[in-house]
Amino acid sequence: MTTAHRLPAEYEELRRTVEEFAHDVVAPKIGEFYEHDEFPYEIIREMGRMGLFGLPFPEEYGGMGGDYFALCIALEELARVDSSVAITLEAGVSLGAMPVFRFGTEEQKRAWLPQLTSGEQLGAFGLTEPDCGSDAGGTRTTARLDEATNEWVINGTKSFITNSGTDITALVTVTAVTGRKEDGRPEISSIIVPSGTPGFTVSKKYSKVGWNASDTRELSFSDCRVPAANLLGEQGRGYAQFLRILDEGRIAIAALATGLAQGCVDESVAYAKERTAFGRPIGGNQAIAFKLADMEMRAHTARLAWRDAASRLVAGEPFKKEAAMAKLYSSEIAVTNAREATQVHGGYGFMNEYPVARMWRDSKILEIGEGTSEVQRMLIARELGLPA
Ligand SMILES: Cc1cc2nc3c(=O)[nH]c(=O)nc-3n(C[C@H](O)[C@H](O)[C@H](O)COP(=O)(O)OP(=O)(O)OC[C@H]3O[C@@H](n4cnc5c(N)ncnc54)[C@H](O)[C@@H]3O)c2cc1C
Repeated sequence: MTTAHRLPAEYEELRRTVEEFAHDVVAPKIGEFYEHDEFPYEIIREMGRMGLFGLPFPEEYGGMGGDYFALCIALEELARVDSSVAITLEAGVSLGAMPVFRFGTEEQKRAWLPQLTSGEQLGAFGLTEPDCGSDAGGTRTTARLDEATNEWVINGTKSFITNSGTDITALVTVTAVTGRKEDGRPEISSIIVPSGTPGFTVSKKYSKVGWNASDTRELSFSDCRVPAANLLGEQGRGYAQFLRILDEGRIAIAALATGLAQGCVDESVAYAKERTAFGRPIGGNQAIAFKLADMEMRAHTARLAWRDAASRLVAGEPFKKEAAMAKLYSSEIAVTNAREATQVHGGYGFMNEYPVARMWRDSKILEIGEGTSEVQRMLIARELGLPA
């Protein structure tokens, strides 16, 4: 469907549209939201109107009839300018709507997807808990089926959940232990919890190092009751479901990280041409020019990696290893590019009003969220047949 280096016309058109939007609408406003830890509702609404939240979903559920590759194109272009809006889109699509689309019943899809694919409302996915993140199979949240009322009764806590507490959050899909398997291991299932359900409490926003214009909360469930019909897919399939969701999500995070890495190049090249020291532009020094050349090379290589993984996903081919490699590489080079971009900007790079300062703060989480770098290395090693 696509070669890694040349986009077919429809993707290129999407890329240009999102590039313009990021430049004309996001760039002038996002610094204010970021500085005040505010969620940028008006920008997210506009992204919804553009159809970005519906990119990989069929039209019958309100989507744009595109694919995951298209979503990644949009994420890269947004993150070239700002990662908070990019992660809001990434989480809204790949963690919010995608589990319902992939595993939901027809009734669940019709009930939830139109509002999520239009971006009018957001969905979230609650996997991580205070005592387990990388080892997500260690879930302690429980859900017990009350047969008298035909309801799940959920108890537990989820940590660091993106998009979970905005004014437009419609639901959080949570993983919970719903029983024991024959071998004694916990049976994990996914359950949809609509916002505002009694017993479901959303804490105030965390104070974060980066992604400050995105919404991240701790959630607690205390005898929270939802209808039995809110089970997502089969009982006991929760572990397999989130592995699939995370495999895909890694490609999206890789595209986002590539965007951040490229944004660092964009900003630094412009600055190096204009800033003078010792009577000439700083970019005239090989020490700076070589830094920029290396930054461009890294962003380019990361782009090839996510495009390869996304092409495999869209073609229905195995993509687990390629997704892990793309996520690992792009997140680590995003951190490197952000550090170098700050260096090229000198003291101004340490000032929040400069986009590279925001990029520096936003880069670190990329090595942690949706599987840490160590977890990616474990996945790649396992794909190589090693008992990692
Ligand atoms: C801003 C933000 C947004 C997030 N959004 C979401 C969300 O929407 N939904 C959600 O469910 N989660 C979300 N997360 C959680 C995120 O996915 C986890 O933080 C991440 O998976 C790591 O889990 P942990 O924090 O529990 O770290 P831990 O698992 O405790 O790991 C701590 C360190 O130990 C290392 N480690 C662990 N096990 C091994 C091992 N076997 N070998 C080598 N090293 C190991 C890890 O790599 C890491 O460096 C978010 C986190 C943040 C910060």
